[in-house]
Amino acid sequence: MVSNSTLVSTNKVLLVEDNPGDARLVEIYLMESDLQNCEVVNKITLADAIVALETGEEFAAILLDLTLPDSRGFETLERLLAKFPQKNIIVLTGFSDKEMGLRAVKAGAQDFLVKGAFDSEQLSKSLRFSIERTKVLKRLEETQRLASIGNWEYFPETGDFTATDEFFRIFGNTDERHQIDGEKLEEGDCPLKALKDIHDAVGITGSVKQDMKIRQKTGAYRFVSVKCNVRQDENNNLVYQGIIQDITDRKHSEQEAVKSQERYQVVFTQSKDALFICTFDGKFIDFNQATVDVFGYTREELEEIKDTHKLYYPQERKNEFLLKLKAQKAVKDFEISIAHKSGEARECMMTASITVTDDFVGYNCILRDVTELRQAERMRKARDLAQQSAHMKEQFLASISHEMRTPMNAILGMSNILMQMNLAPEQQSLVQNIKNSSEILLGVVSDILEISSIQNGKVVFENLPFDLTELLNNLTNVMQYKAQEKDVYLQINIAPDVPRFISGDKLRLNQVLYNLVGNAIKFTDHGHVKIFIEKLYDIGASVQLKFNVEDTGIGISEDKIEAIFETFTRILRKDRVYEGTGLGLSICKNLVEQQGGKIGASSVEGQGSKFFFDLIFEMADGIEGSGKQPQEPVFELPADAKFRLLLVEDHKMNQLVARKTLERKWANIDLTIADDGQAALDLLKENTYDIVLMDIQMPVMDGYEATKIIRETFPPDRANMIILAMTAHAHVAKDGKYKEYGMDDFVLKPFEPDDLFQKISKYVKHL
Ligand code: ADP
Repeated sequence: MVSNSTLVSTNKVLLVEDNPGDARLVEIYLMESDLQNCEVVNKITLADAIVALETGEEFAAILLDLTLPDSRGFETLERLLAKFPQKNIIVLTGFSDKEMGLRAVKAGAQDFLVKGAFDSEQLSKSLRFSIERTKVLKRLEETQRLASIGNWEYFPETGDFTATDEFFRIFGNTDERHQIDGEKLEEGDCPLKALKDIHDAVGITGSVKQDMKIRQKTGAYRFVSVKCNVRQDENNNLVYQGIIQDITDRKHSEQEAVKSQERYQVVFTQSKDALFICTFDGKFIDFNQATVDVFGYTREELEEIKDTHKLYYPQERKNEFLLKLKAQKAVKDFEISIAHKSGEARECMMTASITVTDDFVGYNCILRDVTELRQAERMRKARDLAQQSAHMKEQFLASISHEMRTPMNAILGMSNILMQMNLAPEQQSLVQNIKNSSEILLGVVSDILEISSIQNGKVVFENLPFDLTELLNNLTNVMQYKAQEKDVYLQINIAPDVPRFISGDKLRLNQVLYNLVGNAIKFTDHGHVKIFIEKLYDIGASVQLKFNVEDTGIGISEDKIEAIFETFTRILRKDRVYEGTGLGLSICKNLVEQQGGKIGASSVEGQGSKFFFDLIFEMADGIEGSGKQPQEPVFELPADAKFRLLLVEDHKMNQLVARKTLERKWANIDLTIADDGQAALDLLKENTYDIVLMDIQMPVMDGYEATKIIRETFPPDRANMIILAMTAHAHVAKDGKYKEYGMDDFVLKPFEPDDLFQKISKYVKHL
C-alpha cells in the first residue's frame, strides 16, 4: 500500500480514447482503485492529445488507445513517442492484438493493458508504477542537470536516437531534439555532429573516453567529457550508449589558473627583489634571478647550498628572524645583512610569511637589497651634519669677528684721536704702534671671515669689464712704497699681447695679486720682486692670462711647498719671526680655483720663490668713461657745518670714540646718543635729526627693529630720515643686509675716520 502522501496531490492522467464506454470504464476503475486524487483528462483524437501535451500540462501517465479517429495502430504510438519520448505511455490494446502491446513496450511504451481484460487493480498498479517512474526520471533529470551530465542511446539499425534534456542543453539545441534522427546523425551535418566522430571512434575500440570541444549552433564552444560504448542487443543489433558531461566551467577555471600562474611567473622572474621559497632549515625550494644576483652565487650553487641561513649575519639576527616568523606567521621589513659571494656585505630588508602545504613547511620571502639606499642615506646624513657644522662654524666666526671688531673700534678710534693731539714724538710713535698692531689684528679677523665664506662657496664672482693696466699700476704704486722700505726693487712687466680691457672680477684679481706681491716683499730682504703677465692663448672671445710673481727672498723648502696653500699653514723660520696667519695663500687658492684657474709655486730655498696662477677672462672692448676716469670729487661738509646727528650705540667706549671723532671734525655738530633702539625711539618722539648712526646689535631693541619701527610708524619727517648702519658685523655690509632692513648705507666698525666723514657728508649735503 502506498500512502496518499507519496502521491502527487493531483495525478493527472491523459486518457486518449475515442470510445466513450471504454473511457467511462477507465474512470470507474480509477475511482475504485486506491489511487485517489487521480484526475482523468479524456482526449478523443491524437491531435488533441498532442495539443494538450504541448501546452506543457504535466501528466503522470498517458493511457493511449491505438485506434483513434485520426491515427490507427502502431503508428499512433510512434507518432506520440517521436514528439514526447520521455512520456510514460501505457498502451491500451484490443484483446485480439496482444502482440501489439509487446511490440509497443519494445518501441518505448511503458506498459500495455488489454481492453476488457484489465481490472481496477491492474490499472492502478500500472499507473502507480508509471507515476513512480516519472518521479525517478525527474530526479535523474535533475541530477543530470546539476552535474551537467546528459546521456544518449543510438540504434544505427533503426536510426532511433534518444537523449536526455541535459544532453540537448549541452549541445545548445534543446528545441531541435525532436528533429534529430539517425540519418541526420550519420550525415554528420547535424547539430550533434560530434557524435558521429565519437561513434566512429567507438567502432574500432568498443568504447571511447575523451575530453573534447564541441561547437554549438550559436558558434559558442563547450568543453565536454564523453564516454561512449557499443553493445549488441538481443537481436544482435548495435546500440551506442554514451554519457556526456559539460566541463566548460572547470576548463575555464583551469585555464584561468594557468594564466594567473603565468602572470605570477612573470612577476617572479622579473622582480628586482629576490623572491624565494625556503624551508626552515634554510634550503631554497624555488628562487628567482634577483636572488641569484643578491647572493652572488650561481643558480646551481644556490641549489647546492644546504643551509642558506648561514649566509645571513649577524647570526643572532637570523635567529631572531626565524623566531619572529614562527611566532607571528609573518615578518615585515626585517633588516638583516647577507654575505654576498664576493664577501661584500649587502644590507637587506626581508618580508616573509609562513607557507604550509600538504608536502611543504617553510616560508616565502621577499628580500630587498637596500645597500645603495642605506649608503645614500648615510651620505645624506653626513652631508647634513657637515652643512650644519659649516653653518655653525660660520656663525661662530661671525660672532667672534663681531666681538673683536667692537673693542678694536675703540682702540683704533682712540688711537686716531690721540694722534691728533699734540703728543711728544715718542708718545706719537707709541700710539702709531698701537694703531699698526690693531690694524694687523683687524686684517687677521677679516681673513678668517673671508676664508670661511669662500670655503662655504658664498663668494659670487663678478663679471664686469675693467682696465687691467690701471689695476696693475695701482697695485705697483701701493706696493712700491712697501718695497722701498726694504732693499727690494719692484718691477712690473706686461707682455705686449695682453689685452688692456678684459671682463672678470677685478676686486678678486686684485686681492690675489696683493697677497702674492705682499708675501714676496715680506719674505725678501734684498734683490727684486718681479711681476710679469703673459697671454697663454685666446679661446674665441676669451683669453687665458698667466700672472707670475717672482722674488729673490728666503724661499721655501721643497717638502713644504705643497702645504703652504692650506689653511693656517705657516713655515717656522729659525732666525726670524714673520707676521701672518697662514690664510693668505689659502684664500688665493680658493679664489683662483673657484674661478676655474690654477695656482702654484716653485722655489729654491735661500734663492727665491715664484708664484703663478692663470685665469680666463672675456675680452672687453673698453670700459665706459675709460682712460682718464673723472673721479667724483670727494665732498666734505665744512668744519663749521651745523647738523643734528643721533648716534644709537650701546658700547660706552665706542660712544666716546664716535663722539670725539665727530666733534673734532665738526665743532658745531648737535650730537645726541641713545643707548639702544628703544631709547632712540623715545627720543624721536620729541625730536628730529638730520642723520642717524645705528648700531645693529644692541640690548633691549636692536638696530633692525628700531629702523623698521621708524620707517613704518613715525611721521614722514622722521620715517624718511637718513639712517646709516654702524656695525661690527662684516656680513651686514657684504651681503647688503642693511638695505633689506631699510637702512640707507653702512659704516663698518672699526671705522676709518675719513670713511665715516665722507658717508655723513654725502648724505647730509643732500638735505
Ligand atoms: P702668511 O703669509 O700669513 O703666513 P700665507 O698663506 O700667505 O700666510 O703663506 C703661508 C706660508 O707660505 C708663509 O707663512 C710662508 O712661510 C710661506 N710663503 C708664502 N709666500 C712666500 C714667499 N714669497 N717666500 C717664502 N715663503 C713664502
